[in-house]
Amino acid sequence: MIDDGLTYTEFHSKGMGLILRLKRCITSFDTKFQRLDLYETLDFGKLLTLDNLVMVTEKDEFIYHEMIAHVPLFSHKNPENVLVIGGGDGGTVREVVKHKTVKNVDMVEIDEDVVKISKKYLPTMSCELDNPKVNLYFQDGVKWVEDKENYYDVIIIDSTDPVSIGEGLFTSEFYRNCLKSLKPGGVLANQTESPFHNPEWVEATYKKLKKVFPIVKMFTAYVPTYPAGVWSFGFCSKDVDPIENFQEERYKEYNLKLKYYNNDIHKGAFAVPQFVKELINKSEV
Ligand code: SAM
Repeated sequence: MIDDGLTYTEFHSKGMGLILRLKRCITSFDTKFQRLDLYETLDFGKLLTLDNLVMVTEKDEFIYHEMIAHVPLFSHKNPENVLVIGGGDGGTVREVVKHKTVKNVDMVEIDEDVVKISKKYLPTMSCELDNPKVNLYFQDGVKWVEDKENYYDVIIIDSTDPVSIGEGLFTSEFYRNCLKSLKPGGVLANQTESPFHNPEWVEATYKKLKKVFPIVKMFTAYVPTYPAGVWSFGFCSKDVDPIENFQEERYKEYNLKLKYYNNDIHKGAFAVPQFVKELINKSEV
């Protein structure tokens, strides 16, 4: 239904998209790197967009942030040193610090304005950015891993799309540097776009990941405000299998009060539809 109210519209293909009814625009400006808009929606809370693409809404951000953090962390034997690249809203770091084993989180976010806006307007996401375990660096994540070796237990790449400033986070060289930055038993998780709307991005990304990491698997989650409502994530490691090595005892002991992630979802999320299986295995033919 089209009305003349204030709406946010994002097309995911020529003829299909997302509409969110808005109450108001809170702030809008060009940062050094991208267009930043923050809105108050009718029923999804605040909405942050970068370059006119949905990044987070207060209502459904928990899904993406719980999955991108807890799947790798509960697959690692003893995660202590974590790197988050991107993640400017703070939602991923909020989930990472729930793990008692974590002693240090380096968050490398290229755009300081995203953090500033999140701290001011999105406190439920940015609430742990001042945690003493968290170190914020306003730098390019591509460069950050160039001189790291045998350093991190978990790397989480919570980035924008493989265009503009995010493009470098989807290259083979960057993935090689991430592998080099991981300690033995290390794992990496990254957002890997929509298999439905961006099959070419997904195919290219998994081709590159599989050339670098011995173990590469996809897991998914449904995110209502993302294209086609299903989002994909990569799980990569030298020798850690996310299901065989799932730390289910530690998951039960932590008893975190989460809203999406649980032990069944941890395992079930790695089951992908046939068309997606073929898409990510194309590189193996
Ligand atoms: N966490 C949200 C979600 O639920 O998907 C959105 C992703 S987060 C806002 C994406 C962040 O990646 C942005 O803040 C952007 O500035 C950052 N980013 C993009 N390219 C980057 C790079 N090369 N190095 C570091 N951060 C980068």
